Amino acid sequence: MQRKEKSFGIQMLSVQPDTKPKGCAGCNRKIKDRYLLKALDKYWHEDCLKCACCDCRLGEVGSTLYTKANLILCRRDYLRLFGVTGNCAACSKLIPAFEMVMRAKDNVYHLDCFACQLCNQRFCVGDKFFLKNNMILCQTDYEEGLMKEGYAPQVR
Ligand SMILES: [Zn+2]
Ligand SMILES: [Zn+2]
Ligand SMILES: [Zn+2]
Ligand SMILES: [Zn+2]
Repeated sequence: MQRKEKSFGIQMLSVQPDTKPKGCAGCNRKIKDRYLLKALDKYWHEDCLKCACCDCRLGEVGSTLYTKANLILCRRDYLRLFGVTGNCAACSKLIPAFEMVMRAKDNVYHLDCFACQLCNQRFCVGDKFFLKNNMILCQTDYEEGLMKEGYAPQVR
């Protein structure tokens, strides 16, 4: 599966003493430190390039930042907010990473989608469910299906 993450590299550069100080894109002040960060084609104080969610200094956490909707985020927060778990096996829509999911074998489901696909019965914790042809079935429907397969005359 191809990942479409919006990640950008962060470079740490040492400031040459004889060059004109660059403006920081975070606080708009001049960067007079020995080191500065370059990211998103802008220059930053090490302290100013921070995750909008957890305030961690992105230059330290790794050499990548993530952006979305004008927010600058660390990888953890980006995935938490905007990542995806996968496609729901029932409705085939994407499931955002922060949503609760149900799992059955390799499949993931929205909580709302996790129901018997024949009679729509929901499952509670501990309830038995069955996977057949990648469909979730309740015990009744599963057993009924077995019966039909076993006893129905082969139609040709
Ligand atoms: Zn700054
Ligand atoms: Zn963060
Ligand atoms: Zn779904
Ligand atoms: Zn059912």
